[in-house]
Amino acid sequence: MKYRSTRDISKNPVYITSAEAIKQGLAPDGGLYIPESFPALTHGDFEKLCAMDYAERAAFVLGLFLDDYDKDALLTSCREAYSEKRFPGGAAPIHEMNDGIYSLELWHGPTSAFKDMALQIMPRLLSLALQMTGEERIAHILVATSGDTGKAALEGYSDVDGVKITVFYPVDGVSRMQKHQMQTTLGSNVYVAAVRGNFDDAQNGVKAIFSDKELAKRANEAGFFFGSANSINWGRLAPQIVYYISAYCDLVNSGKIAHSDKINVCVPTGNFGNIFAAYIAKMMGLPVNRFIVASNSNNVLTDFINTGVYDRTREFKKTISPSMDILISSNLERLLFTLGGADLTADLMAELKENGKYTAPDALMNTLRENFSGYFMDEDETKAAIADSYKGQGYLIDPHTAVGYGCVNKYRAETADNTPVILASTASPYKFAPAVAEAIDLPENEDIFACLTELSKATGTEIPAPLANTLGMEIRFTEVLDPRDMPTVPFRV
Ligand SMILES: *Cc1c(COP(=O)(O)O)cnc(C)c1O
Repeated sequence: MKYRSTRDISKNPVYITSAEAIKQGLAPDGGLYIPESFPALTHGDFEKLCAMDYAERAAFVLGLFLDDYDKDALLTSCREAYSEKRFPGGAAPIHEMNDGIYSLELWHGPTSAFKDMALQIMPRLLSLALQMTGEERIAHILVATSGDTGKAALEGYSDVDGVKITVFYPVDGVSRMQKHQMQTTLGSNVYVAAVRGNFDDAQNGVKAIFSDKELAKRANEAGFFFGSANSINWGRLAPQIVYYISAYCDLVNSGKIAHSDKINVCVPTGNFGNIFAAYIAKMMGLPVNRFIVASNSNNVLTDFINTGVYDRTREFKKTISPSMDILISSNLERLLFTLGGADLTADLMAELKENGKYTAPDALMNTLRENFSGYFMDEDETKAAIADSYKGQGYLIDPHTAVGYGCVNKYRAETADNTPVILASTASPYKFAPAVAEAIDLPENEDIFACLTELSKATGTEIPAPLANTLGMEIRFTEVLDPRDMPTVPFRV
């Protein structure tokens, strides 16, 4: 399996191995790496997968895409990454909500958000890639985060040999809990800085470093190179394909659906990575009828799906689902490439950079709409969805999951399509405790620890251990900087 850039418009595109793609992150032309094809899962494969545990399923699916990796090394890595110690009670359990909605809880890992599903395995994939490619330099991982990626990457890469990591987060763009989790991270190879601006400023800063040839040269002279852990990196996306296939198997195994039954998938979406992973699962043969792209008030994707115009030139809104406060959905590029090819993708991305917007051709939009529907939830609707889930069915959900849940209901009301839905539940409600507490009418609490304890007492649910543990830890990182100073950081930490 070979990988190419979404923006390589040459007659004979450059193809590289998965190890190279994971090492490089972004392609030199600014595009994203994508596999040359999507391997098909046969009925027999599905039967085999259904008989496996999560780590085996992950090794099986990853092995199809990362065929340059040793199969045993992949299985060992998956067993470590998805162990009972790291994911107590299982990596991706399903909670059955009312009316055939299956909440796929992706937040039982070390940082209580779904990013752990990829970021527990990815450092292992990178370490192997460095060995496989004979790399002697240090990989300095740069991450721009809207909150959850940062902490998950810090946990995944902390004290990994041959790697350093710096995380940039928007100074006022993350929840108190997210900030606290990042600022208290342990490890000798980690650094965290706040950037003045929003998530897109931080992400653009990181992208600018990646595409700066002069900086790359200086880094090389200093004995390191830049690597990424954002969902622009193929090593982030590939592990996310696994849990959709795994969830389908679990539903078959528990008799909720039969083999080959259609399902719908709803994903609360920011950078479009998680939902694109689900779409890849469909291209591999997972019987998905429709993808519901759920957004918050930063509804740039909803508008795009409905009108064909992608327009980031709009007010950036801070919401109670901050991990989706994004106006440039980077992974949408991979979908554009898959449906429209490199020439079109390169043109549209150049337009986006220049004018902040582009219009996709009708033919592409028609194909896109055969698979994807877009809905969004404003702040009041999101709070109402949290209250509805908790008061109506005793199930406490976080604001991101609530955006997804509300969008499933909007989709069903509009279409009367009641196909069973796998709803990606992307964070523990405790990660966003103040917003969740407010939504279910608990008194306001300035202190995070008190807020978590209140929530636990009032709902009879448990505070996830990783969150409880960070509360007493010492703050290590307090730097705040301007976006233009971001390139200095990897040279001084
Ligand atoms: C990152 C994140 C999302 C958005 O995922 P994308 O892959 O960027 O679309 C949604 N919810 C939570 C809790 C997240 O951390």
